[in-house]
Amino acid sequence: MTATENNVERDLKTIALFIQLYCKCKHTDDQKQIVLLKTHDVKAIAKREIVLCEACHKLLAHAFVKRSHCPMEPKPACKHCPNHCYHPTYRAQIREVMKYSGKALLFRGRLDYLFHLLF
Ligand SMILES: [Zn+2]
Repeated sequence: MTATENNVERDLKTIALFIQLYCKCKHTDDQKQIVLLKTHDVKAIAKREIVLCEACHKLLAHAFVKRSHCPMEPKPACKHCPNHCYHPTYRAQIREVMKYSGKALLFRGRLDYLFHLLF
């Protein structure tokens, strides 16, 4: 595995954990399912089952595809990128997820996850 692939996997793991944390806290009443994607082995990447509501499942699928196909190398933080690749709807959602989960992790002292904030 190359360094680039490692970076992508690390980012995908962060995205998955951030969305799951957000979904768990914000979408408590929604029906949830284990996330299975045709494009990625989510469980292998996140090192655990990721369980999300339908809306967050779609967001995660979108984020995974976009991150895996990012043409920028090294990848800049998305907010500094000249080439915004996210669909505007998903972009607004992922920003909210990153903000919310980033704060939650900060309060829990999980700064390791914040080392490589994407957004
Ligand atoms: Zn959700």
